[in-house]
Order: sequence, then C-alpha cells, then structure tokens
Amino acid sequence: MRKRQCKIVATVGPASSSPSMLHLLHQAGVDIFRLNFSHGEHDKATRIMESIRAISRDVGTPIAVFADLQGPKIRTGVLKGDGLDLKYGAKYRLTLAGDTTEDDVIPIPHPEIFSVLAPGDILKLDDGKLQITIESAEKDRIIARADTPGRLTNRKGINLPGRKLPISALTEKDRADLAHALKIGVDYVALSFVQRPEDVAEARALIGDKAGIISKIEKPSAVEHLDEIIELSDALMVARGDLGVELPPEDVPNIQRKIVRACRRAGKPVIVATHMLESMVESIAPTRAEASDVSTAVFQGADAVMLSAETAVGRHPPTAVAIMDRIITATERDPECAAFTSLDDPQAEHTTADAITLSARRIAEILDCKFAVAYTKTGSTAKRLSRDRPHCAILAATPDANVANKMALYWGVAPVITVDISHFHDMLDKAEALCVRHGAQDGDRIIIIAGYPFGRRGKTNTLKISRIGAKGE
Ligand code: PGA
Ligand code: MN
Repeated sequence: MRKRQCKIVATVGPASSSPSMLHLLHQAGVDIFRLNFSHGEHDKATRIMESIRAISRDVGTPIAVFADLQGPKIRTGVLKGDGLDLKYGAKYRLTLAGDTTEDDVIPIPHPEIFSVLAPGDILKLDDGKLQITIESAEKDRIIARADTPGRLTNRKGINLPGRKLPISALTEKDRADLAHALKIGVDYVALSFVQRPEDVAEARALIGDKAGIISKIEKPSAVEHLDEIIELSDALMVARGDLGVELPPEDVPNIQRKIVRACRRAGKPVIVATHMLESMVESIAPTRAEASDVSTAVFQGADAVMLSAETAVGRHPPTAVAIMDRIITATERDPECAAFTSLDDPQAEHTTADAITLSARRIAEILDCKFAVAYTKTGSTAKRLSRDRPHCAILAATPDANVANKMALYWGVAPVITVDISHFHDMLDKAEALCVRHGAQDGDRIIIIAGYPFGRRGKTNTLKISRIGAKGE
C-alpha cells in the first residue's frame, strides 16, 4: 500500500509503453496511466491496456487508465520544405490547404478557424513559442505578421488566446478514438479543449456510464463556466500547458488554486498537470522550482499530480515517478499540510452519507484511527470520504472491478476488490483482515462504514468503531 495520499498519473509514450517499463513505473508509484490519443495508434493502445491490466492482476492492485482525446486542437499543415523561418515583422499568407509548395505561406487546414480570423487576432504557434498577428482578412486571403522570429515546422499546435471557437469538443478523430477507448475498457476519458458545459454533455451522451469523464481546463472560456463544467464531470484536470498559452502565464497559478478549491468544495477529484518535473525529460534530478511546484499542488489538496513528457518521451521515466513520490510523501508528512487540507472544509449535503463520512473524519482524529474501511458499491462513499480528507488510510472495498479501478484516482483511497458482505460479523471480520493485510496492528482502532441491509447501492447508514483483535467489541 502506498504511504501517501496524493496520487500519481503518468503519461504512456514511446519511452514507457513496454510491459516491463509499465511495471517499473507502477512499482515506482504510478496509480493512474494516461494514454494520449493525440499520438499513437489503436493497436498500440490495445496492447498497452492489456499490459496494464495484466500488471494490475499480478500485483493485486486496481490501476486506473484514462484515454486523453486530442479534441479540437488546431495545427498547421505541411510547409514548403517542412519548415519556415519566421522573420520578425515579415508578412506571411495563410491558406486553407493541407500543404503548400509556396514560399512564405502557412497552411491552416481548419475551415472553422479560417472563417473567424479577423485583423488584430493573435495566433500562438508551437505551444506559444512563436506568435503571429492577423493584419488583413479578406475572404480567402489572410495576411499575418510575425511577432517573433523562429522556425515553424509542420503540424505545430495553434492557439487563439481568448477566442471561443465555433467547434465541437469532439472531432471525427475523437469519435473514432473514443469508440476504441471504450472498447478496450478505459476507466476515464479526458476531454481536451472543453469550452462550454454543452461540450461535456455531448461527450456524456456518447459515453454514458461506460467511463468517467475528466474535463481538461485549458481554455479561458472553460474557466468562466467552471462550476457548470465541474457539475457535469467526474473529475477535472488543470491542463497548465495549453492554459498558459491561452492566458498569460502569470494567471495560471491563480487559476490552478481556483480550480482545485472549486473541485474540493464540489467533492470532485482534480489532477494538476504539465511541466511538473519537465527538466527530468533530460536530467536525472528535478530543479528546486519543480520540487516546489509539485509540493504546492499537494498542499493545495490536489487528488493527483501528473507527469507528461517526463514519462512519455523522457530519459528517466521511473526516476521521475520515484522523485514525484518522494516530494508528495515529504510534503504530506509536514503537519502544516494536513492542517491546511482540513481547514478547507467541504460543504456537507444534508444526507446520511455525508453526515457519516464527515463524522468519520472527526472520529479518526479523536481516536487516532489508522484506517477507515468503506464498503462501497458505486464508489460514491469512498469519494465522499476522500473529499473529507480524513487523517487515516481509506480502504475502499467493492466487489466491482470497474469501480475499484476508478477509485485509484481518489485522494487517499486504496481500492480493494472483495466479495460482497452478507452479515454484520462478516463485515467486521473482513474489514479487520483488510486492515491487517495493509499493516494494522493488534489494538489499532479502525472505522468501518457500510450500508445496511448489505449489498444495496447508495444506502450508507452505518458506522462502526472497532479494535483489531478485539472481536468486534
Ligand atoms: P496535453 O494537455 O498534454 O494533452 O496538451 C495538458 C495541458 O495542456 O496541460
Ligand atoms: Mn493540452
């Protein structure tokens, strides 16, 4: 069992897709794997998925997997000679074609974008490394001026900061990728470039309850509709890479705090992503600023922190995971961190389940309980308990393997697959055995939460405080 509460997401890529490397990454601390559907073919995704499920079976630990759809990411087409050296102040013509054989032409094969471009619009190219401004736009003749010198190559990302674009959150490619992702049984689907709540609703209509939805917040318009998007999603991602291109980088830290706080309040898991240990793509150690960044996300109460290029294409994937694990552990060990997370009180709903999980947190504090065991059919009790951030380990027992995998994303939750309980003593015995298996000692106090009569969904109504070895007394 992990000795930390904040979870680690690792992106799978060429540096990490072999079964042995996936196993190493899991051993080093990965709780959730991200399959990036922007790159990579379906066959490959199938093989990676099979490897992860095999590892999960071998080690007996549920692992969550999510498919990250590319979304309406706009890219340049193919340039003459595969590249163009932009000169400061020089003018370039934009065309709608997929490629070009002309000098000083930038193809942008996206009609939806092309038709909305207007003089004064700023286009950020290649993750914000380059910038051009539209000078004139007449029908199909658009002229732009380069604001930065530098080399532009084929198929580089284009961002139009601040513009709400008239495009759906799911492209044709996304729909095909989504069908494949659901076929191989991913636990969550991440939606890129969500702009409005309707985008999430559209995806939900296709996904149903086959997978959870993680909305990536990487557009200013998504920040504006934050609460509605949280409401419709199962989890959120602070996608700082594109967010920092769409908005000035100095705004990103405030938005990160705002999103984490809003998710904590709503009881929805939140992932902080991108550039967390970026220098480890090359280096064997992180910069002090990166260590501080991971620590800050943990302190703020993020459910998970994510590695992108570090594990996808980096030189030291397992080391990056191990270092992330150490930074999280060290941060959580600081009493100030625990005190801070408790301060951020979630709003209790007036329900039995909420009353019970919030009480469990208080009981764990008063009696110094090391474990809380939650019997959960749908995962919702575990999610509530996780939201309340108790200072004890949360063992979430469920007979449903899909629910168990999903719970791997929740802060502090160790999912366990068990057979259904049938009567009270069965509940106590199984809970005790579980805690002992996870390191509980004779005499330790534990909290058990369940719904009675057993085996129904959404009926959490029972809390029992027990002592290991005291036979239920
Ligand atoms: P990406 O999303 O890695 O798929 O671009 C994350 C981000 O933009 O931060
Ligand atoms: Mn992104």
